[in-house]
Amino acid sequence: MNIRLKLSIQFSLIVISILLVFTTSIYYFSSSYRKNDYYNRIKDRAYTTARLLLDVQEVDKSLLKIIDKNTQALYQEKILFYDQNNELVYSTTDDSVKINLPLINEIRAAQTVETNDSLREVLGFLYKYNNQEYVVIASAYDIYGLAKIKNLKFILIVGFLISIIITIIAGLIFSGRALKPMSKVINQVKKITITNLNSRVDEGNCKDEIAQLAITFNQMLQRLEEAFILQRDFVSNAAHELRTPFTVMLAEVEYNLLQERTKAQYVNTLTNLAIEIRKISKLSNGLLDLARISYDNSAFEINTIRIDELLLEICNDISDIKKEHHTNITFKSLPEDDNDLNILGNAQLLSIAFKNIIENASKFSNYNVVDIDFYSLGKNILIQFKDKGIGISPDDIHKIFQPFYRGKNTQFIAGYGLGLALTLKIIQLHNGTIDITSELGVGTTVTVTLPNKASFI
Ligand code: ADP
Repeated sequence: MNIRLKLSIQFSLIVISILLVFTTSIYYFSSSYRKNDYYNRIKDRAYTTARLLLDVQEVDKSLLKIIDKNTQALYQEKILFYDQNNELVYSTTDDSVKINLPLINEIRAAQTVETNDSLREVLGFLYKYNNQEYVVIASAYDIYGLAKIKNLKFILIVGFLISIIITIIAGLIFSGRALKPMSKVINQVKKITITNLNSRVDEGNCKDEIAQLAITFNQMLQRLEEAFILQRDFVSNAAHELRTPFTVMLAEVEYNLLQERTKAQYVNTLTNLAIEIRKISKLSNGLLDLARISYDNSAFEINTIRIDELLLEICNDISDIKKEHHTNITFKSLPEDDNDLNILGNAQLLSIAFKNIIENASKFSNYNVVDIDFYSLGKNILIQFKDKGIGISPDDIHKIFQPFYRGKNTQFIAGYGLGLALTLKIIQLHNGTIDITSELGVGTTVTVTLPNKASFI
């Protein structure tokens, strides 16, 4: 069931309930008012007759009957008087009267009884005169009152039914009108596909809930579009970077196949091929790492790591493997409790991240010494990697975390632009932050902040 129908039904049910309560109340109160009023009129008539019959000596029964017949105020009025022996002493009609003993006894017990006999209202009460108790039973047919109530009932039922129809139609119209912008958004959203992710839905008045929904949806589209562009560029960059070494390798092999070569030439060719294969291997490893950490970081084991020891180990490893890298670690502040140097993380991933930063600092500073300052600041570990290299231009600094983005001043320095993208993901996975400040021709400082283990307790 759609919202429009749901809203219309709810609205109609509420209005119909109110109408129902209202019309039944009107009917109930009007009907009881008529009844009470009619009983009062019967009572007046009965008392007048009783007084004339019993109190006024000058009026005897036959005279009273004449008076009653000529002054009948109520339709089909009938007044009966019974003495203590339940004998009928007076009747306003000439018709034979059947003594209703159960009613007479009930009146004697309850003093006053109001009841009805099919359409006639019947009132019975005790009338005391000269130490005698008479039972007076008066009845009449409220022909006009009942007709009015019947008419009222008809008007209320017809009014109620017409109101129901109006309410349902109004409910459908108003809910349709209220949800029109929603249908508009739905139709616009239906038209958005992968080929037109740059389209946006109409944000209407920018104020109501539907406008808020459209704004939120547009923001989501914006993020999706950015992610999509990033992914598309990533794939084309990856393909481009892989194609270059393959092209070089193919050209080398084809050239050598043209004619028979000397052993030295073959060795030279194989050496060149090995260089290109190493490039491909490095690139594909970088891509694999980035893909793994981007799409399934739950696969990495998280352990307690002594971050100072890990950093020292990484610096030694780098210097051992690549002799041209030089690092200089300074522990600027250390905690009183060694446990504050523990962090929760994956040592292999953190090694990749720190090695990337150190290798960058080395290669972009012509293999000068990289200064590493280590700080333990309460629940955080802060590590600064400083070099005096080529620096990063302000235009580039905001983009260098994007995969395959390389600074404009790095054409002659090898690399694929994957290192920092991977490093950022690793640091984020460890709930840390990475910040880069740089000045062209002066140097670069990369600051990594990681929360220690104690901050998670
Ligand atoms: P790569 O080193 O392969 O180019 P990275 O993702 O590691 O890729 O770095 C991206 C870009 O950031 C580099 O191309 C370079 O422009 C810039 N960069 C990173 N670190 C430094 C640094 N220490 N000094 C100067 N530029 C840097």
